[in-house]
Amino acid sequence: MLPWVVRRTRLPLLSRRCVNCRSESATAGEGRFRVNANGKLLDVWLLVRCVSCDWTSKLTVHERAPVRSFDPAELDGYLANDPELVASTLLDPLLARRNRVTLDWTGAWRLDTPSPWVDEAWPVKVEIVFEDPVPVRPERLIAHGLGLSRNEVLRRIKCDIPLRRTTRAGFTFTVMAGD
Ligand SMILES: [Zn+2]
Repeated sequence: MLPWVVRRTRLPLLSRRCVNCRSESATAGEGRFRVNANGKLLDVWLLVRCVSCDWTSKLTVHERAPVRSFDPAELDGYLANDPELVASTLLDPLLARRNRVTLDWTGAWRLDTPSPWVDEAWPVKVEIVFEDPVPVRPERLIAHGLGLSRNEVLRRIKCDIPLRRTTRAGFTFTVMAGD
């Protein structure tokens, strides 16, 4: 059968305390980089703004990196605020670590499930594919996708990874017949 697909519907927000109003949510908006040259070294930042007061701050993407260490296409992408480069930069775990922020995926993704199976014999095997690294708990995702209670999920699902541990990578599970 077709895989279920987890994909983002927009860029996630960032959990980051605003220095101006103490709100804890920021957005990269449409996505804007700032590039600053200092001799042969470049700084690259991703601009984010507070969702409450619009205060703009910068997340470090590259710090004093030699110009020649950049792929020219990448550099063009920073200068043109390329939306794909904005997304890959924001979703790179290194950015979050370096800037001490976490991504807030609430409402920023969806689960696409192909039409429910018919004429399939139990047990049914399902594969989940992640197009974007959205952190999900398998038991919740499966309960949502199958319209089952969490108890039913624990009873009827056999999974190759722990059901309660958050993952952001693909996995498969098997649905056993109901009572
Ligand atoms: Zn603010």
